[in-house]
Formats: sequence, structure tokens, C-alpha cells
Amino acid sequence: MAFYDIVVVGGGLSGTTAARLLAEKGYKVLIVEEKKHLAGQIYDYKDTAGITVHRYGPHIFHTKIEKVWRFVNRFAEFSNFQHHVLSFANGNLINFPINRNTLNTVFGLQLSNDEVEDFLKQEVEKSTFNNPPQSFRDVVVSQVGEHLYRLFFEHYTQKQWACNPEDLSPALAGRIPVRTNNDSRYFTDKYQGLPINGYTAMINNMIAHENIAVLLGIDYLSIKEELNPQLIVYTGELDRFFGYQYGKLTYRSVKLHFQTLDQEQFQVAPVVNYPNDYDYTRITEFKQMTGEKSPKTTICYEYPSAEGLPFYTMPNQENDRLRERYMQEVKILEDNKTHLFIGRLAEYKYYNMDSAIDSAMNRVEQWLQKR
Ligand code: UDP
Repeated sequence: MAFYDIVVVGGGLSGTTAARLLAEKGYKVLIVEEKKHLAGQIYDYKDTAGITVHRYGPHIFHTKIEKVWRFVNRFAEFSNFQHHVLSFANGNLINFPINRNTLNTVFGLQLSNDEVEDFLKQEVEKSTFNNPPQSFRDVVVSQVGEHLYRLFFEHYTQKQWACNPEDLSPALAGRIPVRTNNDSRYFTDKYQGLPINGYTAMINNMIAHENIAVLLGIDYLSIKEELNPQLIVYTGELDRFFGYQYGKLTYRSVKLHFQTLDQEQFQVAPVVNYPNDYDYTRITEFKQMTGEKSPKTTICYEYPSAEGLPFYTMPNQENDRLRERYMQEVKILEDNKTHLFIGRLAEYKYYNMDSAIDSAMNRVEQWLQKR
């Protein structure tokens, strides 16, 4: 095998970001990817109806981090798509995350922005929860009360994580804001959109560098002995790297069921969540995100699952503790400057795309400075 200074294990967003940054500093980088394609979980492609779909579920790019936004814009032009979600509850399609409209629909009220806070306070006062909050449930109930918690969060969360929301970390609730106005966007970051030519094209542009080579369909562990790089950037599962020596971390997967329908539009929002009905959590209609025109439409149902590719880290105390043990091993390797562990799987963090890139940028920068 040719000589490489650096081996990046995994060709997803974190791995390709690190590869690009290191290649630009003159290092010869080899990316080894187990799947037959790059881009990891953000892989997208045009289906037979000519609609760009996300094979591993919907990904909407959003960030408030300037340097991350500048970085991705070097490799893709972004649309200004603003994501909207409706939640199907009580037989209605209702704004989600909770905003003023949500309250007015659920409770049949006509609250003004100024009245929302007091209304939610009353809902919370009627409710029981641990204070300070110790779980996902406690945080949500402390913000909106038990009624709204039950309607929008409890069952969705049970479906998504197959556990009691009281056993999930409080931090998970930080992903979902509560709004007192009528802003119905899912994200309010300054920058938001989709790469117009897709995420796969963005990743292909990222790795198009003379110092980057790619091996697809190869498990890094199977060729490890043939490589002798000065740095390994590992983006796979944290516990797997260490041979599960402290035990297995839990990952959550999703079974995606795609359907192309002979109709122009299927639903009234790009994503509709189903907290209380059916086995799936949500349905995505891709053309509403990409703006593509077609007489057909492609939708995707998400069925959370314990089996399958690792999509999510599981936010609970047991995994947090196990993670800490593995991170002590990581620290030894990183202090030796021989390894970097980056990304959702290797850092075992529920990263959004922008925080994965941010982490990769920061970690690579630190490694370069230490050398
Ligand atoms: N969630 C919920 N109801 C919803 C949407 C989300 O209870 O309608 C909870 C659920 O526990 C979920 C978490 O909030 O796992 C984070 O949701 P997000 O939309 O950020 O999940 P992702 O898009 O990463 O799957």
C-alpha cells in the first residue's frame, strides 16, 4: 500500500472535514470507508422520480457558527430552505416546536405573545416534576406542563428511544425550544439551508484534493496492520475501537421506508411528526425540502429500531458513564498525538452536522498546533 501520513477511518461528514483540512496542510491522507459510498449518514441521491432523497433520513443544515458556515460554503451552494414541522396530535396538524399557535390550537384560545408566558406558567404549576430537573421529562414538563408533554413529547420519545423519558438525560430537551411568538421554524440559527446539489456532491467536492485518496467498502480493522500512519483520525463507534473492553454503548437506529407516489404532494409540511399514532415517528416529503418539481413525490417513514446502523447515541446516564471510561483511553491516545476521535460515533455525542464540523475543525487545529 502507498504511504500515507494520515488515515481517516470513516468517510462521513466528520472524517471528510478532517481529511480536507489535513490535506490542505500538506499531509497525504487516506480515507477508509466501510460503506460503498462516502458522506456517511448524510448520503443523498436522486431517486427514479428525480427527487433527491436522504438515504438515512432527513438532514437540514443549520448553524450559527460563522467558520462552519464559511467552510461548507466552499464546497456547496446552499438554498435558504427554512425547515417547518407539524405534529399530528388530537387529530390536528399543529405547529411544532410549541409556539403561540400551538397553544391556541390545543386549548382553543386566542393568546397574544404577551400572554403565552403566564399561560405556560399556569400549566407548569398544575404539574408534577423534579426540580431541579433530572430527566428529559422533568425539563419538558418544567417548561410546558404535563398536558403538552403528554400530547407532543411522551409517546414520540418512547417510540424514538424505546424507554421511559424519565430515564433520558435532561440535555436531550435542549434540542427542542419553546416559543412565545408565532415563529414556526424548526431551527432559528442565522444560517440554514440544503446544499443545492446535495450533501453527497458537497462531500465529493470536499475530498477532491490531490492529497486525499479514498478506499470504499473496506473495514479499517481488516487492513490496519498494513498501515503505519503518524495519525489515525477515527470516526467510527467509540466502543468498537477499544474492542468493547468496558462494555457496549447503546446506539439507536432507524428503519427508513421510502415510497414514491403518483401524486404531486403528499402532506402540508416537509416533515410531519406522529407522536401518538402509528409505529413511525415522522414522515418526510423530500421535494418540499429540495424545491424540486415533479408530478410524483417521494416520502419516507421513520421507524426507530434497536437493530441496524448506528444513527443516534443514546442520551442516558449509563451511557454517559461508560463514555467517560472510554474517553479516558481516548485521552491517552490523543495526548500521544497518534489518534484523534471525532464525530457523533467516535465522541459518542448527539452532534448536529454543524457541531460535528466544528469539532473536527477544532480538533484538527489543536493537533496541528501541538506538533
Ligand atoms: N421529540 C418529541 N416530539 C417531537 C419531536 C421530538 O418528543 O415531536 C423529542 C424526542 O425525544 C426526540 C428529541 O426530542 O428524540 C429530539 O428531536 P429532534 O427533532 O432534534 O430529533 P432528530 O431530528 O435528531 O431525530
